[in-house]
Amino acid sequence: MRLLLRGGRIIDPSQQLDDQMDLLIEGRTIADLGKGLTRAGDESDLTILELEGKLVVPGLIDMHTHLREPGFEYKETVRTGSLAAAAGGFTSIACMPNTDPVNDTRSVTEFILRKARQCGVVNVYPVAAVSKSSEGAVITEFADLRDAGAVAFSDDGKSVMNSGLMRRALEYADALGMPVISHCEDMDLAAGGAANEGVVATRLGLRGIPNIAEDLMVGRDIAIAEYTGTAVHIAHVSTVGAVALIREAKRRGVRVTAEAAPHHFTLTDEALQDYDTRAKVSPPLRTMGDVSAVREGLKDGTLDAVASDHAPHSTLEKDVEFDYAANGMIGLETSLALSLRLVEEGVLTLDQLVAKMSTNPAKILRIPKGTLRLGADADVTVMDLDEEWTVDVTRFQSRSKNTPFIGWRLRGKAFLTIVGGEIKYRAR
Ligand SMILES: [Zn+2]
Repeated sequence: MRLLLRGGRIIDPSQQLDDQMDLLIEGRTIADLGKGLTRAGDESDLTILELEGKLVVPGLIDMHTHLREPGFEYKETVRTGSLAAAAGGFTSIACMPNTDPVNDTRSVTEFILRKARQCGVVNVYPVAAVSKSSEGAVITEFADLRDAGAVAFSDDGKSVMNSGLMRRALEYADALGMPVISHCEDMDLAAGGAANEGVVATRLGLRGIPNIAEDLMVGRDIAIAEYTGTAVHIAHVSTVGAVALIREAKRRGVRVTAEAAPHHFTLTDEALQDYDTRAKVSPPLRTMGDVSAVREGLKDGTLDAVASDHAPHSTLEKDVEFDYAANGMIGLETSLALSLRLVEEGVLTLDQLVAKMSTNPAKILRIPKGTLRLGADADVTVMDLDEEWTVDVTRFQSRSKNTPFIGWRLRGKAFLTIVGGEIKYRAR
């Protein structure tokens, strides 16, 4: 089986490539890349896709997704989350361990991988817990989890409050050549909070979560990484202080990488007016000053990746009083279009955006993806940058519908999602 993607604009940051070219896929791999590729030999097994006017890039990678299986299948399953990923243009996703049971043992990691193989839509990379049940007390069996197929460690949803445990986690993970993904939030400072501490929370009568809850933990993790010479990846950066700390640390040569979520560079806490629980996330939506800092961080390279933090919840968790509503919003099917707004607004070039949504996540997770080099896995995303569409959750693949972007008019959409040489999503 051969696929010829003809005449698209190919952007591949891993090869500094931006040109109108053809791409040939043979079986599961990239077989050729060039202008006017001639088709030699037997053409009976060749499918030609005319992609003039479309953008062809290395398959997008979402390094921060919650799939909810095992345990919360009514919110999302490996299958529905994979379909949502493909529809959003993602060929690979890394899924966080806060399932039930928590992914803190080989059997859970293997279960997720088995499910992903059975549904066979996108590549699923499990992230295993740092601590047993993500309770922050006892470290998990890192080598065993790695052998089972985990690609990173995180207690996402919670911070690893015990600094001694975090130090050991960074050291063990580094010895195995794997990243630790840190959800940075001082749980004592954030306790009882439901929104960003500030005028909006005060006006709404909600308990606040101060910026320093995030800043302190980012600073601590940088200090531990610097002291031990290890690497740390900071999840969903949301504050002006965190961006500054990461920027300074990178300048000093600390091995720190970081990601930002589309909602944190698109929305402020004003989205909480009318107590809209769909906009309740962790870390919370912040102020315009923070949003600007996150955008600046993306622009100057302080923030390496865009990650959706796709967090499905049902109406059971969301149609309740604000204080009791669960944190999180779905993101796999809006992430690309919201991120393309950064290009339209001149914050990022297309090349930089593709790097942040494919090449860089692959490097951080140390997975052999994020490139269209000859011989690489044929994971390819084709987008239509001109397609205008309205966010309509009834058309989404995700099992959950919790997003504050309903009704938004967006521009840019996945046109084809190709995983291992097979078309897994095609725009209607
Ligand atoms: Zn988190």
